[in-house]
Amino acid sequence: MRLTVLGFWGGYPTRNGGTSSYLLESEDDHLLIDAGSASLISLEEVLDPLDLDAVLISHYHYDHIADLGVLQFTHQLKKSEKQRSSLLSIYGHQEDQENFARLTMENVSLGKAYHEEDHLEIGPFEVTFMRTLHPVPCFAFRIKEKKTGKILVFTADSGYLEGFIPFAEDADVLLADTNFYEGTGNRQVHMSADEVGKIAAEAKVKKLILTHLPQEGNVEELKHQAAALYKDGEILIAKKHLIVDI
Ligand SMILES: [Zn+2]
Ligand SMILES: [Zn+2]
Repeated sequence: MRLTVLGFWGGYPTRNGGTSSYLLESEDDHLLIDAGSASLISLEEVLDPLDLDAVLISHYHYDHIADLGVLQFTHQLKKSEKQRSSLLSIYGHQEDQENFARLTMENVSLGKAYHEEDHLEIGPFEVTFMRTLHPVPCFAFRIKEKKTGKILVFTADSGYLEGFIPFAEDADVLLADTNFYEGTGNRQVHMSADEVGKIAAEAKVKKLILTHLPQEGNVEELKHQAAALYKDGEILIAKKHLIVDI
């Protein structure tokens, strides 16, 4: 499967870069994970948004859903008569009914609920969930490509939780919220680089991608801080259109 980073900043877009959004592809199947600010334009540069097969949303903070409405409008306005028969599936949790209801738009998209204990099949992928530590209900995803058994784990937004170690165990790629430099920030909300490095090391993941990045400072520093604990695999810093084959 192929992961393409569409947006990678935490909280708000800046310097021509958007917030959380990732395209995960398995052959001809295209799954959008979160739809942050500026992600639709970033997506359009690599894939016709009408070719998306499904969308998976971790939580309803704006930096993860800002472009969802315009994605729905794209499907509403740009689709030919023939294409209109298929609805875009948008998966989200139901612990916020108001936001969950917005996933459904008549003749355009259908909101589908996932639950913490689900083993959900979305096309070629199987997804399991972990509740994260965040001010609003939010879920991390462990996504297996059924055909190859390859694993992507996405922490979504979260403070440090010991549970990430078994959840990410032996993953091929860990895509982790690294919003803070070591020793800074409110780590009940997001993780710091050393915490992410610890998870990657103890879970024995093969590759670590730092994302949900802070707008200030030198993000290369995050890599050094994570590398102090995670020594056995590659560390990448998310950027627009970074492609990782898993
Ligand atoms: Zn966020
Ligand atoms: Zn959030």
